[in-house]
Amino acid sequence: MLARRTLLGAGLGAALVAVPMSARAGTTSSEADLEARVGEVRYSEAEWRSKLTPEQYEVLRRAATERRWTSALNYEKREGTFKCGGCGSPLFNSSAKYESGSGWPSFWQPLPGAVTEVTDRDFFMVRTEIRCAKCHGHLGHVFDDGPAPTGLRYCMNGVALAFEPKDGTAA
Ligand SMILES: [Zn+2]
Repeated sequence: MLARRTLLGAGLGAALVAVPMSARAGTTSSEADLEARVGEVRYSEAEWRSKLTPEQYEVLRRAATERRWTSALNYEKREGTFKCGGCGSPLFNSSAKYESGSGWPSFWQPLPGAVTEVTDRDFFMVRTEIRCAKCHGHLGHVFDDGPAPTGLRYCMNGVALAFEPKDGTAA
């Protein structure tokens, strides 16, 4: 266990500490749960390049921003789930999507535990970056000018998402 925690590194150590002790003392299955919480989807940059389109790679792995109004997901109104374009993890339910007028798909709430927040100091601004909790892919940013009930605007790059309609037909 000690060696393993060392391997996981300092950044993930904090996440491990937050997990209740009971979850750490158990069997192989609880270890699997633990790994799911700290984000176990890991590929080399070469593997990501082969998995993703060039546009997906630039956004998810290099934190680029797509040009506004370029994503078809701006206009997606069906019921369903918006998943991570990198690893397929469910991120947002369509019930939390709204039209912000920004030109990027916008949501007022992610699914529980689906995303992580990182302070982003690029471009001499302090913004809160949103990443997939599972593969740490860059998704967009969150701002505090969203609608009720949260008042938050999760401003997402459509290219970083994949939509799965509730009725199961292809997006
Ligand atoms: Zn992901």
